Amino acid sequence: MAKSIPDLFGSKVFNEKCMKEGLASDTYKELQKTIQEGKPLNPKIANAVAHAMKEWAIAQGATHYTHWFQPMTGVTAEKHDSFIEPVDGGKVIMSFSGKELIKGEPDASSFPNGGLRATFEARGYTAWDPTSYAFIKDDVLCIPTAFCSYTGHALDKKTPLLRSMEAINTQALRILKLFGNTDVTSIKTTVGPEQEYFLVDKDYYATRKDLIYTGRTLFGAPCPKGQEMEDHYFGTIKSRVQSFMNDLNEELWKLGVAAKTEHNEVAPAQHELAPVFSTTNIATDHNQLTMELIQRIAKKHGMVALLHEKPFEGINGSGKHNNWSISTNTGKNLLEPGDTPYENAQFLLFLSAIIKAVDEHQDLLRLSVASAGNDHRLGANEAPPAIISVFLGDELNAVLEAIINDKPYDGTEHKLMKIGACVLPKLPMDTTDRNRTSPFAFTGNKFEFRMPGSSSSISGCNFVLNTVVANALREFADMLEKADDFESSLHSLIKQTLKDHQRIIFNGNGYDDAWIEKAKKRGLLNLRTTPDALPYFIHEENIRLFETEKVLDREEMESRYEITMEEYTKVINIEALTMINMAKKEILPAVSRYSKELSDTCLSKCQLDAQMDVTYEKEMLTQINALLKEAYQACSELEEKTNALHTIQDFEKAAFFVRDTILPCMDALRKPCDVLETMTDDKVWPFPTYGKLLFGI
Ligand code: ADP
Ligand code: MG
Repeated sequence: MAKSIPDLFGSKVFNEKCMKEGLASDTYKELQKTIQEGKPLNPKIANAVAHAMKEWAIAQGATHYTHWFQPMTGVTAEKHDSFIEPVDGGKVIMSFSGKELIKGEPDASSFPNGGLRATFEARGYTAWDPTSYAFIKDDVLCIPTAFCSYTGHALDKKTPLLRSMEAINTQALRILKLFGNTDVTSIKTTVGPEQEYFLVDKDYYATRKDLIYTGRTLFGAPCPKGQEMEDHYFGTIKSRVQSFMNDLNEELWKLGVAAKTEHNEVAPAQHELAPVFSTTNIATDHNQLTMELIQRIAKKHGMVALLHEKPFEGINGSGKHNNWSISTNTGKNLLEPGDTPYENAQFLLFLSAIIKAVDEHQDLLRLSVASAGNDHRLGANEAPPAIISVFLGDELNAVLEAIINDKPYDGTEHKLMKIGACVLPKLPMDTTDRNRTSPFAFTGNKFEFRMPGSSSSISGCNFVLNTVVANALREFADMLEKADDFESSLHSLIKQTLKDHQRIIFNGNGYDDAWIEKAKKRGLLNLRTTPDALPYFIHEENIRLFETEKVLDREEMESRYEITMEEYTKVINIEALTMINMAKKEILPAVSRYSKELSDTCLSKCQLDAQMDVTYEKEMLTQINALLKEAYQACSELEEKTNALHTIQDFEKAAFFVRDTILPCMDALRKPCDVLETMTDDKVWPFPTYGKLLFGI
């Protein structure tokens, strides 16, 4: 690394330093105000900002610019335009106007829009999000933008996130005002997403159609060694992987992504990268970049990164732990319990709002992470279960119990837990009792939402989280603003809220089967699959909630519902077609050829000597033949059912058909094929097995 890391960091980002250098001081101040308040850019200064940005970008070698956005596909989209503009004399100049910076006009019709296109204009526009810095990727100036239809309907993942940040800002400020925090003028939610992924050798990858088309293995018997030795977690990083990580860090640092932690994960070939947390919309942009670069840089090192939630059966899948908190513009973390009675009371109020929000909106949080890939993790005997619950740890739990029951907290304080009067016991940060099985765990000064899948954008879970918490805070503020006696109203509000929502708190083992029963008795939702969860999105009370907080309107919600249900169906349809293809063109012919080999051997042995023992050949042949028949029949059945799927017009019916009919047929095909893999000669099996994929680097 030629440059020092501090010099390297953010070198490809049009950050504050570049703005200061490239702009007149009043323009710079105006831009800063826009950024801090999250307001649209004043068109009066747009030309000056665009000019400075272009000059900086050209000096860095950029030739093109793009409005970089996050359509509903979940990946980022970009359309490059060069800076050139023809002038007289057959020459060009490099130009970039304020108008081009503020607004782009990509054709919206080829992106998923869930019916918004049918009723509205096909065109959409992208608008710069000035709170997220522009950056250079591959000689292209990327301008982070939100993507809307001409009627202002959100067509992307970023718009609702930005709106939700505004919603929680408004409501949290009302609460902070009640506590007399006059110095705070804005709050932002913060996120640190821990990204898990697998690395496999590129040559092995290239011969597996399932990995190429679907990102996960659709066939594959377990290999003799899995993750049972627990020797991979935090283990020594192999040199090829380490050199990939070094490259990755360097590229991320240049883009201003504060990549911090890297380590091996539980499963063989599984790794994790965590950045230092940042403001939620920036963390979301950065996570998209991180996923893109992980994949790109892995290729340079002869590997392929799998971001799928469940690339291998029988091996841990990958998630994206979403660490979430709320910060004031004065630098205070509102989920920090604090040391004084006053700070404690404020903390307990925010905590109660979150507990209430999570309990009342289990459905929304669950569906915010629902996808075909994540269904293999949630509720499938793997971290965490599909049931939403909150983990607080023993200490905090004891405090809340004391408040609910008007009892003394059994620490050193021999007073009743009177909010606003007594000091909370010191809560241990990062306690050893950290519960890894909880889907939503308090970890000292933030919550860790562990359900998001490794491949999905974190925008979804965060706009839901921001919105539901904003709504709880709104309810609290409505009440407290009217209260005659603030302190006693505060105490009874916290006490009542905790009492009403105690059922969501669970500090035990989330993997335990007994929890499922217990949760049912508590009336908690257990939405096992994506089609179970998604319909809750358009329940009337949820539409009302998002409309109240001005995050999404009815049409946007209906369109999103359709898009996500369709996505589920499409993903599994591709998986089914891939399985049929692999079975018919690779597995069945290979096994049939292998049967011939066995029977040829058998025949020649008998020819040589009629008394020669051919038990092995005969028995193998019989077993293989039976499995071959089973696989063939299962394949035909799957083919028939996928054909039937293609005739279903209704998107809801299609999603349920996929879950109830296609998925079981896929399992039925996989089963005999995986057994066949274990019975045939390694040399004839048409693609690399789990052993090679998992231990081949
Ligand atoms: P773990 O032990 O679960 O791996 P860490 O404590 O190292 O977790 O933190 C995980 C992530 O949480 C990191 O990305 C870190 O930056 C982030 N984080 C820490 N504090 C906050 C906060 N106040 N808001 C959001 N994320 C945070
Ligand atoms: Mg974690």
